[in-house]
Formats: sequence, C-alpha cells, structure tokens
Amino acid sequence: MKGKIAVLLLALLISLGVVFSGCLGPKEKAPAPADRPELKSLAALVGEENLSIMHLVGLKAAAAAMKELPFEKAKETVLALTDSGYPVIEGREGYPQSRYSTTAALDGLMAASGRTRGQGNLIVLGRSIYDPLWFAFFDKETGECVYLEVREDILRPYLEDEAAGKADHEGFMALAATGLFKMAKENIAPRELIEAANAEAWHEKFTAKVFGGNEFSILTVCAVWDKGMSHEFTRAVELHNHICPGLTSGYYMAQYLDANFPLGEAERYVVWALPPWCKDDAFQTIFGATVGKRRMKVTPCCFLPELHLGDALRDGVEEVLAQEPYAGFVYGMRHHPVCSRCRW
Ligand SMILES: [Zn+2]
Repeated sequence: MKGKIAVLLLALLISLGVVFSGCLGPKEKAPAPADRPELKSLAALVGEENLSIMHLVGLKAAAAAMKELPFEKAKETVLALTDSGYPVIEGREGYPQSRYSTTAALDGLMAASGRTRGQGNLIVLGRSIYDPLWFAFFDKETGECVYLEVREDILRPYLEDEAAGKADHEGFMALAATGLFKMAKENIAPRELIEAANAEAWHEKFTAKVFGGNEFSILTVCAVWDKGMSHEFTRAVELHNHICPGLTSGYYMAQYLDANFPLGEAERYVVWALPPWCKDDAFQTIFGATVGKRRMKVTPCCFLPELHLGDALRDGVEEVLAQEPYAGFVYGMRHHPVCSRCRW
C-alpha cells in the first residue's frame, strides 16, 4: 500500500511539474539577485519580489550608458536626464484601455547608475503620456552624452506577458541594449557649443533629431547643470522641460520678489500672468502658485494693462478681475485688431 501511495504521489508531482513548467517555464521566473549581481542594488531598493520589467528598463538604460559613456556608479560628473514616469506604454488595446506606467524605470536607473534627485544629478523632465520614454546621460568632464529611447514595439510584449502573469525577466535581461533602445552618442560640451561655428554645425544634428527631438531640452539642461543649478530652478526646469530665457527670467523675478517683497505670516503670492509665457512655470514651482490652486490668473493678452483696471497690489487681483471693464475686454477680444490674430 505504501508503495502505491509513493508511486501516486510521485506521479502527481511529475504531472504538476509538467503543468507548472508549461505555464510558467524556467524563463518566467524572476532572476534572483544572487544570480545576477547587477540586480542586487535594485532588489535591495524595491524588494526582490517586486522586481518588474519596467524596473529593468531603467536598469538596462543605465547599464548601457555606463558602458558607452563610460562611467562608474560613484562618478560625480555625470547627470542623468529622463522623462520616466510621464509617458505611458500603450498595450495592445491602446490608451486608455490598456497602458503601462513608466515610473518604475526611475528606480532601476537610480539603483544601477547611482544618480538621484537628492544629489542633484538626476533630472526628470515633464512630458505628456503620449511621448516616448527616453534616458540621457551627460558627463560634464568630457561633454559626451548618451541618449537611449525605448523601442515600444520591443518592450510591449514583455509588459503584456508580465501583466498576464508570464513575466520573462531572464529573456528581457538577455536583450541587447541596441535592440531595446534607439541609441546615440554626441559631444555636447557647452564650452564648444558656445562657439558660433560649432553651434552651426550642431544645427544639422538638431534637424536630424539625433536625440529623438529632445535636443533642445537635453542641450540646454546639460549646459546649465554643467555650471551649477539651484534645486528650486531644477524643479522649475522639470515642469517646463527645457531651459530658455523665459523660464530663466521667471526664476530671476521670483528671486527679486523673494528678496524685496518677503512674505509675512499667512501671506502668499498670487501671480497674474499677462500674457502667460515660459516664466510662469517658474512661479508655479517656486511659489506653488498654480492655476489649479487659483493662485495664478492667466489673461492671454498684453494689451489689457492699457485699460488701467486698477492697482492689483492694493485692491487684490480677484477684485480687479471682477470688474466690468476686464470682463468686457475679454469678451470682446475676438474683435480687437491685434488680439483677434493672437495665437492665444
Ligand atoms: Zn520656454
């Protein structure tokens, strides 16, 4: 009898083994950090059981850049730029029915490359959900920059398998970086690009979109970071996603206000953007004066001040905006000789 039970149990185990290997297979098991030393710090950060394909995307981007640039985890002269967390990867059914967040890629990038927001060497640029997921690594010592843009068609099946409970982490780790990413390496040393001839030569690369259309963002942010960038300016840059004279003037205006009109207790800035432009993204981050919190009023016309609506500082923006002349002007803007042709 004992023999029969043993045989039955063995048969059951074998059949279960066949079923499980058919469902999951050895490939679908997440690789243990001990098996892959490059996963150790990521597993320590997020927990081994939580490792996902999107974590590995950031990790693979960092690993490829560390090889290409090249740089070590401890190197202090390297900046990482990415839009991770903003774009989504559309599943087979398209957005919004099926989509995958790109946020976890940030953890993979940080664990592998040692870049963090706290150290000021990781900048996450705001983009829309529809934009591609990309990473860039810039070494201010050499001026070299490596750009990696995710090929969604390659990544999508891995995400869909993972969502269906069949994650192939091993297969994904085995993918070549050039298979998963569109990669480019360019020298963008600011001290070189400031020369007219070099800037002109770079114009062709702008046109060719060597960094997937993110050239302006990457070049301007790297150039300023190279010289040193305050944390509050970095936050404004993250919202605005590039550096331009407009955003910079907003930053300087905020500094002027802070120095000359310091806030008293329970006071706060309300910004009236008239008309709105790049500077206002600096106010939104530095003062927290966002449109949604009704701490920023936006009037899309620069002719309005000619109406002399009153003193917003004395009377308050709300009161000024509640006046009939203001409402009348906004209502009649489409007939104004200039406003009617304004792009706003
Ligand atoms: Zn701008």
